[in-house]
Amino acid sequence: MPGVNNLIVLVVEDDDFQRLTLVQMLRVLGVQEVLEAGDGQQALALLSSLSPLISVVICDLEMPNMDGMELLRHAGQAHNPASVIISSSKDQSLLDSVGVMARAYGINLLGVIKKPATLKNLGSLLDRHVPLKRKDVNALKFTLSEVLQGVSDKQFEPFFQPKLDSKTEKLLGAEVLARWYHPEHGLVYPYAFIPQLEKDDHIIGLTMLLLEKAAAACRTWRERGLDLTVSVNISLASLNDTSIANQITDVVRLAGLDPRHMILEITETMIMQEVGPALENLARLRMRGFGLSVDDYGTGYSGLQQLMRVPFTELKIDQGFVTDCSTNAASRTVVESSIAMARRLGLKTVAEGVEGQAEWDILKAAGCDMVQGYFIAKPMDNLMFLNFWTANNANGNGNSNGK
Ligand code: C2E
Ligand code: CA
Ligand code: CA
Repeated sequence: MPGVNNLIVLVVEDDDFQRLTLVQMLRVLGVQEVLEAGDGQQALALLSSLSPLISVVICDLEMPNMDGMELLRHAGQAHNPASVIISSSKDQSLLDSVGVMARAYGINLLGVIKKPATLKNLGSLLDRHVPLKRKDVNALKFTLSEVLQGVSDKQFEPFFQPKLDSKTEKLLGAEVLARWYHPEHGLVYPYAFIPQLEKDDHIIGLTMLLLEKAAAACRTWRERGLDLTVSVNISLASLNDTSIANQITDVVRLAGLDPRHMILEITETMIMQEVGPALENLARLRMRGFGLSVDDYGTGYSGLQQLMRVPFTELKIDQGFVTDCSTNAASRTVVESSIAMARRLGLKTVAEGVEGQAEWDILKAAGCDMVQGYFIAKPMDNLMFLNFWTANNANGNGNSNGK
């Protein structure tokens, strides 16, 4: 379903089991972020603090404290832009009349679901949601100073994309991808801010912010007994400064994570000026225990090839080759030979951009260690990631280290 994955949906439901069921269905439908409230008051607080980020509210009618009707009245009066789906077990005639009421209050009502909701009716109602100014958001161009302000206000959050063992399908870790929770424009993707930051070497502030948040998240996973690693993208350009290795180590350790549980994905977007400082930083980071990954393998400039002398631990094959490796013979050759080369160099291999079973099968047969891509899961927030772990674990891929 196109678009659903960009939605932020708030589920307002006092019954824990029903709320969880809805949350899981939304996840199955591919909704990127689901928020939860147990009554109208909590919902209203979230709506007013997170407007206009919340796109759709799924609302029960009978709840303690503030019921659904009162919530809809307040939301309508506040001109909250979220669309609403009413979900209730009441008679159809009552639901119809609440529907009329909601519209009278100025609510954009997508429809009414008579409990229990099904994936089909939930999905088709979500499809009716027309994102506010979506076109504008896609065309957004932020200035460097706007992005830097967002970084200093800490408006960026890590999203996590699962990495699975390609054979056992066990969850091994996640790659962190930056998302900007923009106060006006909602969820903003990297293409709208990374280029500005990389252009004149301003990426380090964002990198440090994400390193800290990613390390803290991974620490909490590990405290729960989940034996997972976290991968963070580092622009090669930021390794020019020889103090970076120490800064990275400090921020990660301070957040309570042992560097052994973090992998740094080194991405090359520009031709490297100087090899020396980058080599010094990478050697130092490896010495401290960080894993080092060659990102976007197959696309880069020559710099990373020189860096193959660095003790890299992982090679990440670019999605440009992975996505079509089952239909394009040249891509398949690049994929298979990269995997063979990595194995001879003693590197773990990750294929990113796995979008189908056919590609996964080829990768598995070629001996690729890990897979990542939309076919497995899209990047998601920490809460959803923990749900993903639970589901993966329930499928018999347990990786709890039993702590
Ligand atoms: P990347 O490191 O190559 O990350 C993978 C990108 O591919 C992500 O896009 C991810 O959402 C997307 N992707 C994952 N699976 C699939 C798939 O199956 N099919 C397709 N078509 N795409 C898939 P995203 O999140 O938009 O990030 C784009 C790029 O922005 C990243 O590419 C990375 O180079 C950069 N980036 C993101 N976060 C950071 C960061 O914190 N620091 C730095 N330096 N760069 C970042
Ligand atoms: Ca990456
Ligand atoms: Ca990539």
